[in-house]
Amino acid sequence: MARPALIVHGGAGSIPENERGDRQAAVERSRDEGWARIGAGALAAVVAAVRRMEDEPLLNAGIGACLNSDGEVELDAGVMEGDGLRVGAAACLRDVRHPIDLAVAVMEDGRHVLLAASGASRFAREHGLEMADPSLFITDRKRQQLLEGADTVGAVARDADGRIAVAVSTGGRTGKLPGRVGDSPIAGAGFYADDRFGGVCGTGQGEAYIRLGLARLMVVELQHGMDPASVAKGAVDHLAKTLRASGGVIVVGREGSPQAAFNTPAMPFAIAE
Ligand code: ASP
Repeated sequence: MARPALIVHGGAGSIPENERGDRQAAVERSRDEGWARIGAGALAAVVAAVRRMEDEPLLNAGIGACLNSDGEVELDAGVMEGDGLRVGAAACLRDVRHPIDLAVAVMEDGRHVLLAASGASRFAREHGLEMADPSLFITDRKRQQLLEGADTVGAVARDADGRIAVAVSTGGRTGKLPGRVGDSPIAGAGFYADDRFGGVCGTGQGEAYIRLGLARLMVVELQHGMDPASVAKGAVDHLAKTLRASGGVIVVGREGSPQAAFNTPAMPFAIAE
């Protein structure tokens, strides 16, 4: 038997003072929703938490996500189960109501790990997922255009059977080129889980996470016996020192409490254990 734990984050960035309390409350609501599902397993918990955050207009995922340079929302999401290293992800989505649901469907289908753009939408429709008019994701165009950096949302959980899962969803970076894919749908860059060692999830400059292969690197450090708090701190130091990048990470090891670290002005997160 393992001790269940869940950590949820709402993105590392330069969050305006007047939004910090509301964003923290949104993350705590999502943590509660995820924790209510922990009995159904780590995957159910992280998906429930992230799905809720896709509906929180102040967070950069689903409704309210940041805009690209054409003023449109393009969404990425990923999910991984540390049992069997199963992965599903989707990128450049414009009309899928819950990107995290599509990531799960890709994982369950099992043929591929990442689908993008129109092919991903077709797969979503064929699998009966809820679709949306792209305008649904835009609630306050002016605010969404001004989001600095952006911030991803994510969750990592360990359930009573010791299974570890991670889920992540994002609008990416404000002003990104149409078609740009960040780290969030790329296993090993923005997220990774392996039941033998732990699970991690990142937020921040996606290009840096991809170049460093940061999520996989963090799990290798857990494998080599580094404690989760040092892994989290080391990852943000590595981002800053190696590529002058900023961001945040959350980590759940095989035992002990979840950990978080960030080198941005803020990163709302919440833990249940
Ligand atoms: N990592 C995300 C991306 O680059 C954005 C963020 O977390 O700020 O797409």
